[in-house]
Amino acid sequence: MVAVTAQERAPQSSPGLPLAVAFANTLVAVRGKVRDTVGTPEELADWLASEADAPGLSADEADLAAFRALRDAVRAVLRAYAEGEPVPADEVERINEASAAAPLWPVLTAAGAGLAVIQRSGREGVPAALAALAHGTADLLGGPLAADLRACHGPGCVQFFVKDHPRREWCGPGCGNRARAARHYHRHREQSA
Ligand SMILES: [Zn+2]
Repeated sequence: MVAVTAQERAPQSSPGLPLAVAFANTLVAVRGKVRDTVGTPEELADWLASEADAPGLSADEADLAAFRALRDAVRAVLRAYAEGEPVPADEVERINEASAAAPLWPVLTAAGAGLAVIQRSGREGVPAALAALAHGTADLLGGPLAADLRACHGPGCVQFFVKDHPRREWCGPGCGNRARAARHYHRHREQSA
């Protein structure tokens, strides 16, 4: 039997938003400027704890660089997929490398009178968390939500969302309001021209 350092992981808890989308959306646009919401190793550890069910990790600058490199790859692949464009092979390879860096496997465990499933990882720390993000990306693109993945076309927006309603066009109400204001402005201009 092979001894591994197993890290227990709670199942996915991000309500409504797939992990890969939450990961990609750590880049935001604020008043037309792209901003990274995970700017320091401490912010990375906080994000992994709150969004990726990986509490208690300590992260350093190398971890932050790896997180950003994987995020760039995930964003490029999600965007191409959502827009129906050829998916960049280099970025897919980067995601697959992160995925293979820490194998995960499901483990049945007693939960009250029944059973629960937890994920164990063959590695600990940030590499295991990044592998889980890569797995989440594969789960999203191979799963039922892939067809509804969208890149928001709101003015200046860099977010992704899952089109969970036939009339949903935007990542959130802010983009909807900005787009309506822009349409109103253009209509008004055309009428007064
Ligand atoms: Zn948006």
